[in-house]
Amino acid sequence: MIPNTNYRNLKESYLFYNISQKTKAYLEKHPGSHLYRMGIGDVSLPLCDAVIRALHEAVDDQAKKNTFHGYMPECGDPALRKTIAKYYKKRNVELSDEEVFVSSGASDELGDILDLFGRDKTVLIMEPAYPAYVDANIIAGNKIIHMPAGKENGFLPMPDVNINADVIYICSPNNPTGAVFDYKRLKEWVDYADRIGAIILFDAAYEAFIEDDTIPHSIYEVEGADRCAIEICSLSKTAGFTGTRCGYTIIPKELERDGLSLNQMWVRNRTTKTNGVSYIIQKGAAAIFTEEGQKQIHDNIKIYKQNAACLMEALDKLGIWYCGGKNAPYIWMKCPDNMGSWEFFDYLLQEIQVVGTPGEGFGTCGEGYFRFSTFGSPEDTKEAAKRLVGLLSK
Ligand code: PLP
Repeated sequence: MIPNTNYRNLKESYLFYNISQKTKAYLEKHPGSHLYRMGIGDVSLPLCDAVIRALHEAVDDQAKKNTFHGYMPECGDPALRKTIAKYYKKRNVELSDEEVFVSSGASDELGDILDLFGRDKTVLIMEPAYPAYVDANIIAGNKIIHMPAGKENGFLPMPDVNINADVIYICSPNNPTGAVFDYKRLKEWVDYADRIGAIILFDAAYEAFIEDDTIPHSIYEVEGADRCAIEICSLSKTAGFTGTRCGYTIIPKELERDGLSLNQMWVRNRTTKTNGVSYIIQKGAAAIFTEEGQKQIHDNIKIYKQNAACLMEALDKLGIWYCGGKNAPYIWMKCPDNMGSWEFFDYLLQEIQVVGTPGEGFGTCGEGYFRFSTFGSPEDTKEAAKRLVGLLSK
């Protein structure tokens, strides 16, 4: 056996393991107590009615000879590709159906997409970051440039002329910071990538949470992005598909390097490495884009946004610095009194039974920061916010 020794370079992630160990220990010591879980990255609301109905219909289709579907087209059901292309028109982004690839979710794509690039590439990752970016590139053996972000730039780092990368990850709205790139900042990144010939991997998993008109939902709203960017999107947080699994990836036909079309390369990759997303799931996903589906998913998002408003109000009252919350389901706060991330985690757990996520787990520059997620229940979020104010205003 010849193993990929890059696996040796992966660092153990103790973040969620440590959180679960610490909460378990607390519950053993204080049986019957309730924990206010503000750390979860999973959604808590069920799929909307329009999706459930479509899923049921699709299951029934599979029971009848004349409506049964076997293998689906590897790049996605043509009808769903068309529907997604039409969804982009809302943002004045013109896509052809062939530029849309239906996927089983963003995580899968973020790793698989590295097949498009040669080995030993240099990738730029802005930190704090979604941990999968780093690990997928370690496994691929790529060189990683860690670009730290901080409070001074609102956790929105800008291009550095001294850095040369082949691939640049941008996540906006960001997990974990909730920070968002406006049009002007994103244009700077697009121009920079265009100038140095880099490819931007734009993670738009949280686009549905954007409420400010000045924030692009898609990188293709920025002029020139079709020459240098791939967009990876997920229906997980948009529509509660974390356990149902569906997303989409956009690769413009204009995107070429060394005479090779990345769109055509991805067609070849998908037809080699997948047999498509299941008919049932794609039927359910299509329902999200109907008028009824859009209303229902936004009704759910509104509930998460109320949670965000409640936590932001508490932090405003306390005069604590934070970013995110408005256009994203995450709030990234500075720990008070110069506490470390884990110190603050322990303090909240012991004193008010609130559980969040220590910022350090998303990269070293996250030390001293803390992430709250807004995917919990409204009741728990309200109580957590109240407890936070009570504790920190002492
Ligand atoms: N990208 C970001 C920034 C995320 O936070 C997540 C999930 O938390 C994903 C991608 C993964 O999405 P999916 O559930 O579609 O794999």
